[in-house]
Amino acid sequence: MNQPVTLIGLGPMGQAMVNSLLDAGHPVTVWNRTASRADAVVARGAARAETPADAVRASDLVLLSLTDYAAMYDILGPVEDLGGKVVVNLSSDSPVVTREAAKWVEQRGARFLTGGVMVPAPMVGTEASYVYCSGPKDVFDAHEKTLGIIGKPHHMGADPGLAQLFYQANLDVFLTSLSAFLHGAALLGSAGVPAKDFAPWAAEVFQLVVHFLPESAEQVDNDDHPGHLSTATMMGATADHIVAASGEAGIDLDLPRAIKAHYDRAIAAGKGGDNWTRLIDGIRNPS
Ligand code: NDP
Repeated sequence: MNQPVTLIGLGPMGQAMVNSLLDAGHPVTVWNRTASRADAVVARGAARAETPADAVRASDLVLLSLTDYAAMYDILGPVEDLGGKVVVNLSSDSPVVTREAAKWVEQRGARFLTGGVMVPAPMVGTEASYVYCSGPKDVFDAHEKTLGIIGKPHHMGADPGLAQLFYQANLDVFLTSLSAFLHGAALLGSAGVPAKDFAPWAAEVFQLVVHFLPESAEQVDNDDHPGHLSTATMMGATADHIVAASGEAGIDLDLPRAIKAHYDRAIAAGKGGDNWTRLIDGIRNPS
């Protein structure tokens, strides 16, 4: 028989995970604060637990898909017996909060893994889905196959905060990129250009960024920022022009000003002749 799984938290992500696990033939027990949110997955074959304690009792593997880690305490706090369970928290939060949660769960007799699912709900369970995990490697190894139904699991290290950091670092890039796209669309929109005409050009820029990444990472890691092709001063002037153009268009100035501040710091530190990768210093130590 496939391993029974309990899944607590039935937002879009939790529901998608339950569906993938059911499709793969796992018995799944679910609990959700708002009980009606379980109706669809129960209709597809999941068992409805009446209380969190019942849900935890039903399976040795307990997955949490919640808005944040505070919700975990609300739900598992009143559950008296976590002994022998493996709790995998697939919710977003900060690394410090995650490390404290790992200790809290372990003090209550369970093992703990952190997970960060890196795709939206419709892609859960597809080939494109992947999950950053961290925590004890033996726990990861024991549950890799079952977690693999949700998305390909990658063990990033023993520190329970590390999966969260990978998750947040990637979403840092993702959210910043999305806002950058919208900002560019607003800038062109001020001249009547529809966003659909901008999208293919923005895609070209994203490709260029992808092209730059390996070399840029090497420069950051080696703390070596040769400015023979581009300099912080040259790019900083462009950052200035984006602020000016945004002002002329009457659109948001916060985003371009934040970027310009990175260049200003590098130039003020006397590093204007270095490549733009030198900005890492001021990002690491903004004061
Ligand atoms: P939602 O915020 O829509 O739902 C999360 C669940 O948390 C709901 O079932 C909700 O219960 C429950 N919940 C929240 N607070 C409490 C509480 N105090 N007590 C009990 N239950 C609580 O989240 P998603 O399903 O969209 O996402 C789940 C996690 O996955 C999040 O951490 C999110 O950042 C992450 N994620 C989301 C992605 C997405 O595209 N949506 C993509 C990748 C990761 P109720 O139904 O009663 O409100």
